[in-house]
Amino acid sequence: MSIEEVAKALAKARHAVVFTGAGVSAESGIPTFRGANGLWEKYDAEEVASIQGFMRNPKAFWEFAEELIIKSEAKPNPAHYAIAELERLGIVKAVITQNIDMLHQKAGSKEVIELHGSLSKVKCLSCGREYDWEEIASEISKVSKMAGVSKAPQCECGSYYLKPEIVFFGEALPADAMKKAIEHASSCDVFMVVGSSLVVYPAAYLPFIAKDAGAKLVIINAEPTHADSHFDYVLHGKAGKILPEVVKVLKDYRQVKDEKRT
Ligand code: NAD
Ligand code: ZN
Repeated sequence: MSIEEVAKALAKARHAVVFTGAGVSAESGIPTFRGANGLWEKYDAEEVASIQGFMRNPKAFWEFAEELIIKSEAKPNPAHYAIAELERLGIVKAVITQNIDMLHQKAGSKEVIELHGSLSKVKCLSCGREYDWEEIASEISKVSKMAGVSKAPQCECGSYYLKPEIVFFGEALPADAMKKAIEHASSCDVFMVVGSSLVVYPAAYLPFIAKDAGAKLVIINAEPTHADSHFDYVLHGKAGKILPEVVKVLKDYRQVKDEKRT
């Protein structure tokens, strides 16, 4: 299976959908959960990323967040830009993402469906007050630079239960995002997975919903996944390298077709 075949399938698509996981942001310097050097080799997912763990000890989450997200100033990489370009070309109608890093929006994607929420807002579970992520993140990095240690943020009301509006393990997915994602999966003609191990459910059902509805399935991932045999096109490698090539071939292909028509 080749880049040319994927480019052709996309060029013919009327309604393509891109579904992304942590792997699309790996080349922006954000570690993935699973796969080589994944975070779960270093952190206990149950402790730092489940709602039960957060309620037991919100500080553990904020230490994890500080090391992972607050210190890094991640920027979109060529994979995010290529996906945004496919939307501008009228091929991709939506990006369904499991990521919480907002890098698709920063790269220019407009229709972004965030299945696991995002870091844009932080809400106090005690009094309901909402903060912008930047407010909280800059506060934490200020404190930790001074003291050399991380600190959990505290609400004006005194509570430490300040929770970012992301979906922790054990929490339900936002119903409106899931509804939109299912609508796109059931009406698309190409469903392209980028950088996901496809093991976090219910998000990982979406390619199968698309396939049942007749879509062609594409996966671009660094490593093989358990679901590869269900896909029509499988490309193993770095998304930041493969996707810009796909876009380039697709544009050349479209141009040749246009020239033939005139
Ligand atoms: P995952 O960590 O389970 O799998 C990531 C996959 O990406 C792996 O199979 C790996 O081989 C592949 N990969 C690594 N580098 C790649 C590259 N350069 N190009 C292409 N593929 C690459 O991620 P997941 O499937 O998204 O599921 C885990 C959960 O982790 C999601 O629910 C997501 O919310 C969360 N998460 C998000 C971020 C983020 O926002 N950037 C980061 C870590 C985890
Ligand atoms: Zn409060």
